[in-house]
Amino acid sequence: MNSELNRFVETIPAVADAAAGRVTFWVNPKRVSGGEKQITAVTPAMIEDARARLERFAPYIAKVFPETQAAGGLIESELAGIPAIRDFLNEHYSAGVQGSLMLKKDSDLPIAGSIKARGGIYEVLKHAETLAIEAGMLTEQDDYSILAEPRFLEFFGRHTVQVGSTGNLGMSIGIMSAKLGFRVIVHMSADAKQWKKDLLRSRGVEVIEYASDYCAAVEQGRKNSDLDPMSYFVDDENSTDLFMGYSVAGKRLANQLKEQNITVDADHPLFVYLPCGIGGAPGGVAYGLKVEFGDNVHCFFTEPTQACCMLLGMATGLQDGVCVQDFGISGKTEADGLAVGRPSAFVGRVVEPLVSGIATIQDNTLYDLMRGLLDSEKTFIEPSSCAAFAALIQPEVLHKYLEDNGLTDKAANITHIAWATGGRMVPEETREHYLHMGL
Ligand SMILES: *Cc1c(COP(=O)(O)O)cnc(C)c1O
Repeated sequence: MNSELNRFVETIPAVADAAAGRVTFWVNPKRVSGGEKQITAVTPAMIEDARARLERFAPYIAKVFPETQAAGGLIESELAGIPAIRDFLNEHYSAGVQGSLMLKKDSDLPIAGSIKARGGIYEVLKHAETLAIEAGMLTEQDDYSILAEPRFLEFFGRHTVQVGSTGNLGMSIGIMSAKLGFRVIVHMSADAKQWKKDLLRSRGVEVIEYASDYCAAVEQGRKNSDLDPMSYFVDDENSTDLFMGYSVAGKRLANQLKEQNITVDADHPLFVYLPCGIGGAPGGVAYGLKVEFGDNVHCFFTEPTQACCMLLGMATGLQDGVCVQDFGISGKTEADGLAVGRPSAFVGRVVEPLVSGIATIQDNTLYDLMRGLLDSEKTFIEPSSCAAFAALIQPEVLHKYLEDNGLTDKAANITHIAWATGGRMVPEETREHYLHMGL
């Protein structure tokens, strides 16, 4: 490790823990009251623009993905109470969770079965809309279900969409792009699971496999795409569109909480835990939530110990200037959705004033929690998703956070939401296999 990085290891305990591969929980010293209002790279108007776009597409989505018809073509998931896993966490991890614990089941999102069905699908839709409007084939006033007509399939078929992925992003981009008629190429890193590659190929997606990690797959995908003027590259390392697609979740969750008569205010804080890979999904959701709830929502990111790139990027302030390998950790994790060694180039900077902290978790614990959730709640989510519990099982840090923020006497009023980010598409035999992992 070079001396500059060593200085961070010596001065920031969470960085020292991270570099040693230990579980840790970093609390963000740069978070400020009203932090979301300081952000200029994205704005509430951009969230509204994304929300309105998804609404325009709803008739098309309902038509081509009948599973979304009940929700009127909106891609949304359930918010469910999970009291039994709260008892499990308190019993097995002495978590001492007070208040209520809920699961935001993006693990069951239609079409792609992961949180990527928010940002990934949104970016593809936006690109398709832009192309069709530029070609004079579509106006914003049209009923977008016309996009299912053969002339559009033919039109989009002259265009290519490419993306680099550890799996789930490729699934959402691949499935949506193929449905619209695009030619799609997904560049999959070594972490990607075989069943995801198989599923994409079965939908007509071209999958290129790499023996190397995520960053290399992205780099090659970007290079390929840049050589082809008819190709569009979904750039997970820099994309504002992905971020905005995720951010729409803020208002949707606010509506769900209202429907369930759950109050969020200064006396009833909301704590949200978001598994983090490159940062786009948790960053976008956290921004959307902050715009809705301001200081009454506290957003925590969670990462595997071996791929805690956002923690290292934010705690050092070096952002995408560092990768986990610079600190001597591997970047290898069973949590394929989170197997990212270098954070997004822009998310860490954007969310700096609003993220409460980042907690890490060991792979074996992910499997234990997966089984715990299955036993106690009869709910399956993929191991990556189980990272959502990383902060709750480090109660000392959380208690200190409550104390420092004058929330100790409100602990029993907190609504905790673990954001389950993936799971529905995992095949039965892979689920069986997971049941025996890490024992
Ligand atoms: C992609 C993903 C995340 C995190 O999203 P990023 O934008 O990479 O931070 C979390 N969980 C699962 C299951 C994912 O696929």
